[in-house]
Amino acid sequence: MSNYLILTQTLKAAGMRLTPQRTAVCRFLAESDEHPTAAMIYDELKLQFDSFSLATVYNTLDALVKLGAVNALGGVGDDSVHYDADTEPHVNLACLSCNKIVDIPSEHVTHLDDEITAATGYKLLGARVLYYGLCPDCQESSNR
Ligand SMILES: [Zn+2]
Repeated sequence: MSNYLILTQTLKAAGMRLTPQRTAVCRFLAESDEHPTAAMIYDELKLQFDSFSLATVYNTLDALVKLGAVNALGGVGDDSVHYDADTEPHVNLACLSCNKIVDIPSEHVTHLDDEITAATGYKLLGARVLYYGLCPDCQESSNR
């Protein structure tokens, strides 16, 4: 099942109506690997609809996070929450200068999920595995 279908079916199962605006948010999240903020999603999609609000983006994101279909990664030096529709265990690596976030696959976090579940009995809904620092490009420009 594609990520897009997972997101829309998650909303539907939660009793939310699948409006064109909400499905557009799901599609954007599923297709993006940029870890967008709500404002980025809103800016990208607002021209496609006569009526579309930042509140729609937020309530769609909030529902998806609560249902475990999207991870809320928090800010990366830009005071905005970044979202990740890839909930397979992986490490996110953020640059505090240009605010870019990249995905790093890691065997270790896969095992960590199992360990936490086994030790606590929690049903895990998401994770914020976020490392931060300065990317090579930003290190270079600060050295200049
Ligand atoms: Zn950077």
